[in-house]
Amino acid sequence: MRKVLIMEDEDSIRSFVVINLRRAGYDVMEARSGEEALELLKDNPDTRVALMDIMLPGIDGFEVCRRVRATNSRIGIIMLTARSQEMDKVTGLMTGADDYVTKPFSPAELTARVDALFRRSGGEDPTSTGEIRQPPFLMNTRNRTLEKNGERVKLTQVEYSIMRYFMENPGKALSREDILDRVWGRDYFGDLKIVDVNIRRLRLKIEDNVQNPLYITTVWGFGYKWGF
Ligand code: CA
Repeated sequence: MRKVLIMEDEDSIRSFVVINLRRAGYDVMEARSGEEALELLKDNPDTRVALMDIMLPGIDGFEVCRRVRATNSRIGIIMLTARSQEMDKVTGLMTGADDYVTKPFSPAELTARVDALFRRSGGEDPTSTGEIRQPPFLMNTRNRTLEKNGERVKLTQVEYSIMRYFMENPGKALSREDILDRVWGRDYFGDLKIVDVNIRRLRLKIEDNVQNPLYITTVWGFGYKWGF
């Protein structure tokens, strides 16, 4: 069971999360308050990831996070924060959350974060299933293949290695040096431009619009980020 919980009092955000996570194959439970979330988690101890809004009527997200963490070290917890809540991020992480997502967030960012935590929480070990699922992408690390919307994307070995590095680090800015080290190896004395050349070709294969890349974004003066 790919069981996750969303705790959010705002109906529009909650339904947005529910729709997108169901689409990504998760079994989603909804809570409108902290009290409701604690009840649901008590009845469903096999829940692997919980998304928690911070500002709620009744007990707030931090307190829910703290109480859940006191008895459950395995569940992955993602705090949902508003842009104005910069400090909340820090406090949220200190009270035992694993990650946070800033509102507004895209469906791709949301599912990538949940997938990453789900794998880390032991829900789906990529080495046993061989799959990294980040809709619309699905990577099979055994066959070294990539699909987008169910269709095979033909990649060179180098392109595959770059994609795998990206998909293992969703939302993280990766420097050209990191990519070069990881894909070509530390002993490689080539030019950093080889990274850009391969990224350009990779974009042609996986982006809907190469002029306006959505998945592989450029981090100016630094490197690249696996999207969203
Ligand atoms: Ca709220």
